[in-house]
Amino acid sequence: MEIQQVGRKTLRGKTGHGKGRKVPQQAREHLRELLGDMPRQRELLIEALHLIQDHDRQLSAAMLAALAEEFRLAQAEVFEVATFYHHFDVVKEGEQGPPALTVRVCDSLSCQLAGAEDLLARLPAMLGAEVRVQAVPCVGRCDQAPVAVVDQFPVAGATAEAVVAAVRDERRSCPVPSVSIEQSLQEGAYQTLARLLAEQPDKSALYVQLEDAGLRGLGGAGFPAGRKWRIVAGFDGPRMLVVNADEGEPGTFKDRVYLEREPHRFLEGMLIAAWAVGCEACYIYLRDEYAGLRALLAREIIALQSRLPFELHGWTMPAIHLRRGAGAYICGEESGLLESLEGRRGMPRLRPPYIAEVGLFGRPTLAHNIETLLWVPTILAGGREVFADHGRRDRRGLRSFSVSGRVCEPGVKLAPAGISLRELIDEHCGGMQPGHELYAYLPGGASGGILPAALADEPLDFDTLQKHGCFIGSAAVIVLSQHDGARDAAVNLMQFFRHESCGQCTPCRVGTAKAASLLEAPSWDVPLLRELSQTMIDASICGLGQAAPNPVLSVIRFFPDEVRS
Ligand code: SF4
Repeated sequence: MEIQQVGRKTLRGKTGHGKGRKVPQQAREHLRELLGDMPRQRELLIEALHLIQDHDRQLSAAMLAALAEEFRLAQAEVFEVATFYHHFDVVKEGEQGPPALTVRVCDSLSCQLAGAEDLLARLPAMLGAEVRVQAVPCVGRCDQAPVAVVDQFPVAGATAEAVVAAVRDERRSCPVPSVSIEQSLQEGAYQTLARLLAEQPDKSALYVQLEDAGLRGLGGAGFPAGRKWRIVAGFDGPRMLVVNADEGEPGTFKDRVYLEREPHRFLEGMLIAAWAVGCEACYIYLRDEYAGLRALLAREIIALQSRLPFELHGWTMPAIHLRRGAGAYICGEESGLLESLEGRRGMPRLRPPYIAEVGLFGRPTLAHNIETLLWVPTILAGGREVFADHGRRDRRGLRSFSVSGRVCEPGVKLAPAGISLRELIDEHCGGMQPGHELYAYLPGGASGGILPAALADEPLDFDTLQKHGCFIGSAAVIVLSQHDGARDAAVNLMQFFRHESCGQCTPCRVGTAKAASLLEAPSWDVPLLRELSQTMIDASICGLGQAAPNPVLSVIRFFPDEVRS
């Protein structure tokens, strides 16, 4: 405590103002105008950075200094947060800021297969110096690959000409789905919540109902939802509910699609969970790439709160906070996400304690992804069988596969747990694209490893692929054909992990960089790659560093010819 006080005095001095850069009056006034009546609270620091970035198209040194003063933080704290997130352009004194318009071209695997490299090669010359062209990781639209995002306007199936046309279109704006609360109410939204609030059933019976249905965390971890509710409810309140809508795993886009279709079924599931577990506030952390969804949710949350289509029966409706990510994949890791919600760098926490006990703002926290919460009202209204009565090969439940790559009909495919890749392609994706034969597939996005066509009859579900060194995770399936290379895919994925490592721990920070350079060599040093991979698996703090070697190990194991070539 003594040290904190000394540090505080040193940083702020007697006047309460931070040491370091002097704040120009112009920047102070401009900032206050932008912030308006936003509370000057640490948890809103990233929202404040977004306000500046959106308006100024950059974060200047003067504005960061003004922000530090306004939020009563050390300038270094504001700077370290601003520079952590990819979507902020921090411009140091004397540096030139970025052009006013940025075109982001996704270069993750599905977009790479569909021609992202060509876009990246051609667009800079076609757009000129007035427009910045950036290669960025997955933007959550793998079914529309290749994708470019002009400012916040996504161009699906992008050609260079279509991107140029979007840049020149002055009426360009991010499309916002037209779903409304009126329409959702007609389709039965909030009826389950209304019934639960009226009947006040034993909450522990609801936990059992979800467990019986076999509902698991569908963001990737697969932890049984009902058990999680019971654990969090067992800790003293106040409790928090956090929605992880940051799906950044390359290949994953199901939450976007579901939110575009059914925002109110998601909101109902979230409120049911908050009521059943006794959470006093809900925080939705939405990835920054989903600008249209952000506008949709903001609008529909207000619509819900203003007309409240159910009786509260004495329940105090939790506050709902919609928060905007800033382009850091690691914030999909739940403890990194909490750090980000608290206005810090999204660096994962050491565990224990687990967030169920010590989570957001130090409170017991229930964290779920979008799809898990979407299933809650459906299961509680229709009974366990609406979910549990599906499944193949002794697996139970339904899974939403985000399918992309060399199939005729990519998209979100709701299919029984335990379905095989071959069945998924044939029954749900219209088969392989003409001229393409199945060669390999990624069962779980960037982290889940790579399997050969010979293993296309394996059941796809949690716990079924471990024997092959793979996992299903968020069920992001990327299909490769004879025209693609598993080795090329592994290189692409390791470059992604190198880019997204938060840098907190050495095995991941150095390991991803070292592995990426080893993979780019003409011939792989397999013993060294194995040793490096094992170190990363054993010693990294979080799942990013632990899973990053999976694609590499898959290639060594299943595609030895490619390693030698
Ligand atoms: Fe950060 Fe990587 Fe360590 Fe996770 S494993 S804490 S992403 S450096």
